[in-house]
Amino acid sequence: MAGTAVRGRLTWQVATVADVVTETPRVRTIVLDVPDWPGHRAGQHLDIRLTAEDGYRAEREYSIASAPGEPVAVTVERLEDGEVSPYLTDELRPGDGLELRGPVGGYFVWEPEDGGPLLLVAGGSGVVPLRAMLRHRGRTGSDVPVRLLYSSRSLEDVIYLDELDEPRDGVEVVHTLTRRQPPGWTGRSGRVDAALLADVAWSVEDDPLVFVCGPTSFVEAVASGLVGLGYRPERIKTERFGSTGGS
Ligand SMILES: Cc1cc2nc3c(=O)[nH]c(=O)nc-3n(C[C@H](O)[C@H](O)[C@H](O)COP(=O)(O)OP(=O)(O)OC[C@H]3O[C@@H](n4cnc5c(N)ncnc54)[C@H](O)[C@@H]3O)c2cc1C
Repeated sequence: MAGTAVRGRLTWQVATVADVVTETPRVRTIVLDVPDWPGHRAGQHLDIRLTAEDGYRAEREYSIASAPGEPVAVTVERLEDGEVSPYLTDELRPGDGLELRGPVGGYFVWEPEDGGPLLLVAGGSGVVPLRAMLRHRGRTGSDVPVRLLYSSRSLEDVIYLDELDEPRDGVEVVHTLTRRQPPGWTGRSGRVDAALLADVAWSVEDDPLVFVCGPTSFVEAVASGLVGLGYRPERIKTERFGSTGGS
């Protein structure tokens, strides 16, 4: 069933790479043909396992980038000294096999009936599960109002730029560029701090449902900033991608 959250019941299977899409110089989306996929919910992730010729195995988690009902896809950022991500972004080609299991996770998920308004806050590749939620909203015809605050290092690092900036009723996207802004940039600059959150976030009275995703330090700073503004902690759901780096 689509809500499966318990890894113990999931089995590894070999998916086939159907397509590879370049999103930014460091980020690729890998579209997968998964023969035995039970369906997934917006916000869930899956496990990918690589096995070297000597039998050494490495496993990593990747958020599912596609909406329920769409082909399974992951969007991976290459970390130069990483064990797994450079293989996924640089080596995989359509037709290759890839071992995975999933879907995993039942907490960081959004369904239209969960309502809103929604505040989505992403740092770097943390936008991946939030993109799945936005697509799910679009595909289900939901009119829940959404604000996405998305922090990237530079404009070239913004993942899904065209898709996110496509005008949609009820969806506002605010970009902040932390390290480099192009000439004439009229968006926000700098890291997501209390002042930016106060400016962009819904008012406390709107009692928004919040999803925050990205590097650990980013997620912690945003969540505590929102609590500082008076947001109820139980309305804030977080997903940490594991490093302390920031976007
Ligand atoms: C629930 C969940 C969902 C995730 N979804 C995605 C996703 O959609 N897209 C995606 O690209 N990644 C995602 N990640 C991160 C992913 O699982 C890997 O950690 C990442 O690809 C690095 O793996 P690696 O083997 O290349 O690097 P490693 O060999 O594990 O690490 C190399 C170096 O990079 C540092 N590092 C590890 N993880 C990160 C990170 N996330 N950012 C910056 N530095 C890091 C390590 O400390 C180490 O110094 C997710 C993680 C979790 C827990």
